[in-house]
Amino acid sequence: SLLINDQCINCDVCEPECPNNAISMGTRIYVIDPDLCTECVGHYDTPQCKEVCPVDCIVSDPDHAESPEALQQKFLRLIGQC
Ligand code: SF4
Ligand code: SF4
Repeated sequence: SLLINDQCINCDVCEPECPNNAISMGTRIYVIDPDLCTECVGHYDTPQCKEVCPVDCIVSDPDHAESPEALQQKFLRLIGQC
């Protein structure tokens, strides 16, 4: 999963780009639900939120580091294919 760090300026451009609806407004800044973020595996070649974030505050979540295979499995689970 990816993580939004405290440099987030709440610009809201990332939220509609997420194919998994993993991004939402948190208590202070936007947050990513690690159960829903596949790092865009299954949908796009690159993380779409990172592409659009104007301040580059979306980074890898060290507490939710996942292999490409694990991300693919999460994608399949989310679309109900496994
Ligand atoms: Fe959503 Fe992709 Fe960003 Fe994860 S990397 S939060 S799946 S847009
Ligand atoms: Fe925050 Fe970046 Fe998303 Fe804007 S695009 S809300 S700055 S994480």
